[in-house]
Amino acid sequence: MIKKILIANRGEIACRVIKTARKMGIKTVAVYSDADKNALHVEMADEAIHIGPPPANQSYIVIDKILDAIKESGADAVHPGYGFLSENSEFAKALKKMKVAFIGPNPGAIEAMGDKITSKKLAAEAGVSTVPGHMGLIEDADEAAKIAKKVGYPVMIKASAGGGGKGMRIAYNDEEAREGFQSSKNEAAASFGDDRIFIEKFIEQPRHIEIQVLGDKHGNVIYLGERECSIQRRNQKVIEEAPSSFLDEKTRKAMGEESVALSKAVDYDSAGTVEFIVDKDKNFYFLEMNTRLQVEHPVTEMITGVDLVEQMIRSADGEKLNLKQKDIKLNGWAMESRIYAEDPYRNFLPSIGRLTRYRPPAEGTTPDGAIVRNDTGVYEGGEISMYYDPMIAKLCTWGKDRMEAIKAMRAALDTFEIKAIGHNIPFLATVMEHGRFERGDITTAYIAEEFPDGFQGADLNPGYARKIACICALMHEKNAVRNAAVSGILDGHERKIGSEWVIEVGEKNYEVKTEKTDGVSLVTSTDETDKAAIELEISHGWNPGDQTVRALVDNKLFNFTVMPIPEGYAVQYRGADVDVKIRRPAAAKLAAIMPEKVIADTSQYLLCPMPGVIVSILVEVGEEVQDGQALAVVEAMKMENTLRAEKKAVIKRIDAAPGDNLAVDEVIMEFEA
Ligand code: ADP
Ligand code: ADP
Ligand code: MG
Repeated sequence: MIKKILIANRGEIACRVIKTARKMGIKTVAVYSDADKNALHVEMADEAIHIGPPPANQSYIVIDKILDAIKESGADAVHPGYGFLSENSEFAKALKKMKVAFIGPNPGAIEAMGDKITSKKLAAEAGVSTVPGHMGLIEDADEAAKIAKKVGYPVMIKASAGGGGKGMRIAYNDEEAREGFQSSKNEAAASFGDDRIFIEKFIEQPRHIEIQVLGDKHGNVIYLGERECSIQRRNQKVIEEAPSSFLDEKTRKAMGEESVALSKAVDYDSAGTVEFIVDKDKNFYFLEMNTRLQVEHPVTEMITGVDLVEQMIRSADGEKLNLKQKDIKLNGWAMESRIYAEDPYRNFLPSIGRLTRYRPPAEGTTPDGAIVRNDTGVYEGGEISMYYDPMIAKLCTWGKDRMEAIKAMRAALDTFEIKAIGHNIPFLATVMEHGRFERGDITTAYIAEEFPDGFQGADLNPGYARKIACICALMHEKNAVRNAAVSGILDGHERKIGSEWVIEVGEKNYEVKTEKTDGVSLVTSTDETDKAAIELEISHGWNPGDQTVRALVDNKLFNFTVMPIPEGYAVQYRGADVDVKIRRPAAAKLAAIMPEKVIADTSQYLLCPMPGVIVSILVEVGEEVQDGQALAVVEAMKMENTLRAEKKAVIKRIDAAPGDNLAVDEVIMEFEA
């Protein structure tokens, strides 16, 4: 029996594993780097062992340090999480030698599936359909162009050792094939220390659909349905769901059975994922197998009721799978939103810093019968550091069907409060509101097609604007009553706070009248264009200082986040940011004729969009640059980000040099006015 598990990972996945271990009565050991001294996983585990400096290659992925921690703690099993050492067969072998259980598949399976070319060959032999392409290695750019032409454009150029969306390029013609070959090769060499490249057909209008498998050491393997992960940016997943809105029962079964066949071919004996790319005609092709717990595993758990970590632990312990294929029933629908510390308004660039505010929605069953689950490794006051993956949380919802899961996700995102760090909640909320997403009409190109110029924030739906205007009027009144009471000038009830307001929401003005009856307020509003008065019944529990507003509008929940600004509130709702100004009718007349404030023009500077290190400056003083031309490269969170000119300009001054450590918004260079 496994008695003590060391988790060779950090962040949310370490916390996730600890939860199940605790449920099973197994002790846990955390490992941590200097950067994670105060991390949640360290606090949650029964013991914690320090393993070195922040960079992963000096701590979390140094096999010897993990082995020492195992010896020191006396752990008899290791869960590797995902990333780090999870797909490292040397690590799995070293554990085997020490007679410590590796909570993952056997080293042979990791090796067979760790390489994209090898695994593709194995898949083909096991009767699994693979993406048409060239199964061998490619020597140089000319050969790349020749093979690409033979495979037929468009093609995908890939690193055999690839992972995490790296070392991948699409090419539509010979020239792009040559270029793509070279850049994939460079990226692969830098990221994986292995520059072997191959080429396969690029599947058009592709959907990423993957099958969860589960095996034991007795030759049993089953599949637990699929997850669709088509919502991706830079070939990396942001929103996942289970099941897929695209699969029918027959395709699901065929994909499941092929995945089981492939798993059996490598004696797969743990939880794993077989990834497929599916074309518009439901043809599916094997992409790769991930021999570990997948980031998005919670959606499968939510629709099958199976705890995948528990199953992995049992398999590693030599137990026989206690589930048969016929026991696996898919129930309802689950969605996952990956909440990242990245700025959607700046091309999803990572942002780091202290989480001065972190208030996730409540987990558990909602009044509508949906379920909310939030897997995280952070807490309020904690820090998102530049050394690791910038994921803050995985917010998951379950509903009895897809629409219910979407609605639950919208509501959960509405009350998720994160401050002081750029995050992608506005973007996630926008996708959840989007008609095309709602219809399930998605492909891996969805983000690129729907947000071609990046994400600029959503427009506020006019129906929502009116509700926000009315609620803000009531908030303002409550605030005014509070202020009057505090100042002691007049009793709250004596003072005339007023009940008529002109409320500016973004560009639009609403005339609002409030009236209190039995704890519920009746709010009547008209807008400039539509003079018909609309009456809403509103109650709210907001208090001055709160950043989340929870209201009932005509008996329906309506929640949003606010920050005080002069004359009102900055409101964030469903991906839209609007300033709401609350004025008395007379003041509103004056405001209408006030000149607008001029906002400082920073466009003549190139500012550093996130804290990072300058890798290179690509221009010189006096040089004329064109729109889109690369100006500088900044490295942050293991990613190189190229900063480009937004318009034609001449470089006046350069303030930063390679190696400089810059804070956000520090000036890198100045353009001629
Ligand atoms: P998934 O399909 O579960 O999202 P990915 O392959 O995208 O799997 O990666 C899972 C995790 O492993 C990510 O969070 C990423 O940080 C990490 N990861 C995967 N490959 C690499 C890599 N080559 N370098 C650094 N991190 C990686
Ligand atoms: P990684 O190891 O980085 O996860 P994958 O091979 O799983 O690499 O590919 C990552 C993503 O790239 C897929 O989810 C898919 O969106 C896209 N992709 C990969 N191969 C193809 C292909 N042949 N055609 C179309 N899209 C592809
Ligand atoms: Mg993949």
